[in-house]
Amino acid sequence: MPAEQEPDTYQTRCPYCRAICDCDLVDVGVGLVQCGPYHCERCGASEAGSSPEDLARQDPKTGWFRPGEPPSSLANMIDGRLATAEETRGAYRARFAGNPDYDEPGVVEDWYAQQRQPV
Ligand SMILES: [Zn+2]
Repeated sequence: MPAEQEPDTYQTRCPYCRAICDCDLVDVGVGLVQCGPYHCERCGASEAGSSPEDLARQDPKTGWFRPGEPPSSLANMIDGRLATAEETRGAYRARFAGNPDYDEPGVVEDWYAQQRQPV
């Protein structure tokens, strides 16, 4: 039987199902910086952030959201799923570039809230 694969430097193990989990990383020139939560493709759990909402909602035993719970209030999301910062930037530009809607109070906030909902 092959040995269980170990997570690499930028991966971690899911506290619920033990699958190896990735997160969104951005190269800032001197190294990679985490810019999204670790999330489990197998069971749907995801790492909680540092916002008061996340701290109130997280599983205190793991610091994660249990499988099936919505991701961090700080996470980039598109169409109700976790997205990379790059994907989110692209979707934002597609919606608002050259479009004066972004000046309307609440329009950008509503768009972000809408992206958290499954389609
Ligand atoms: Zn899992």
